[in-house]
Amino acid sequence: MNPVVTRFAPSPTGYLHAGNYRTAVFAYLFAKHHRGSFIVRIEDTDAARSKPEYEANILEALAWLNLPADATYRQSDHRARHRQLLEKLIADGTAYVSREKPQAPGDREEVIRFKNLGGSVTFSDVIRGEITTDVTDLGDFIIARSLDEPVFHFAVVVDDADERVTHVIRGGDHISNTARQMLIQRALGFPAPLYAHLPLILDSQHKKLGKRTGAKALTEYRDRGILPEAMLNYLAYLGWNPGDEREYLSHDELIEAFDLARVQKGSAIFDDVKLLSVNQHWMRQLPADDFISRGNLAAPDTEKLRKIVPLLKERARTFGEAREMLSGELSFLFHEPKLDKNQLLAKEPPGRPGTAITALQGLLGAIKALSEGVSAEALKEAIMPLANAEEAKGKGGRGAVLWPLRYALSGAERSPDPFTLISILGPGESVSRIQRAIAVASTSPER
Ligand code: GLU
Repeated sequence: MNPVVTRFAPSPTGYLHAGNYRTAVFAYLFAKHHRGSFIVRIEDTDAARSKPEYEANILEALAWLNLPADATYRQSDHRARHRQLLEKLIADGTAYVSREKPQAPGDREEVIRFKNLGGSVTFSDVIRGEITTDVTDLGDFIIARSLDEPVFHFAVVVDDADERVTHVIRGGDHISNTARQMLIQRALGFPAPLYAHLPLILDSQHKKLGKRTGAKALTEYRDRGILPEAMLNYLAYLGWNPGDEREYLSHDELIEAFDLARVQKGSAIFDDVKLLSVNQHWMRQLPADDFISRGNLAAPDTEKLRKIVPLLKERARTFGEAREMLSGELSFLFHEPKLDKNQLLAKEPPGRPGTAITALQGLLGAIKALSEGVSAEALKEAIMPLANAEEAKGKGGRGAVLWPLRYALSGAERSPDPFTLISILGPGESVSRIQRAIAVASTSPER
């Protein structure tokens, strides 16, 4: 048996959407599962629409996803070969130069057409089974605009054969092209590869992912702080699953598990929310230091940042969100918050002024007694008895202790629980924030 060779053959005429990269993922995983090669071929025969920046972005996205190619080609580098085979077909009489009446400005007066004898073409699609197409209606289709400008159908067939591609794994939208390409293949005397046309990917509104709907450069997801292992994992599950309960597979586990036999026929849905949850899973796997470096997280105090990682793991679904939290809702951990006296006293039980100050003073003693590095659980054990004692005096007493504490530490209406906050700030800084709060609570009312 020949070694498996697959290819990903994007046209650099725009940014590719996630569905296109799913094709790359399947082609890569299949090749690697069978210890074969994975080729990337940039199909830039459409010189007017192909742009270097799109090509660069595609290669960048593939590198980000960790889909290294065993060989990378640019279709335009094979012009001489395409020309040679076009000449051969013309010499054989299977293709001919056709004089055309230009229909629109810019139309050619001469093109190269394939002499189509009609009939039907049948192939056995790895995913969809036998597909038969009547090719009579295709007529003598165009295979090149000139000897140096083969159309995509011709170039694909030549390159696949020259690159010894064994499995053409591509989007389902190419099914209708296959018969035409097989006619060219036969005329050139090339063997037919196996074809596997992948299920379509729809967006959450069940519309086809296209250049307009959901067309996002994959690198935008990277910039939002999606991990490549999460994106790879997510894309691999668009139309495939390993046939067991596992939801999260690493790069190597995907290679091990992947096969075309489990690719579904029906379309798959690209669901952003699901992607975020897969990403959160992979974020949570990272040790604190990796979490910080891979997330490009920065903060004035690195030691403190390490302590905040569990909070970020709990809350952030992307590193973009984590970065926003650090500079937004969690920034008080690095900068002393401004306190508002009314807020600080907001939960004093009616008719019992002074509860907040007394509570904060009681807490000061308890916290001063703690050592650096104390856990949130130990803090809870030390502090809850004070809050419970206040509750015993009257309903709402617990909040009357915990609220001024949390507010003293965070200056925010919504924040993590006070035990977590003290464990991050440390006893020293917590004490100084509580002292500041006591001073604010003690100021005489403004007139
Ligand atoms: N260049 C084609 C495209 O971007 C893919 C060709 C193929 O996979 O056969 O749609």
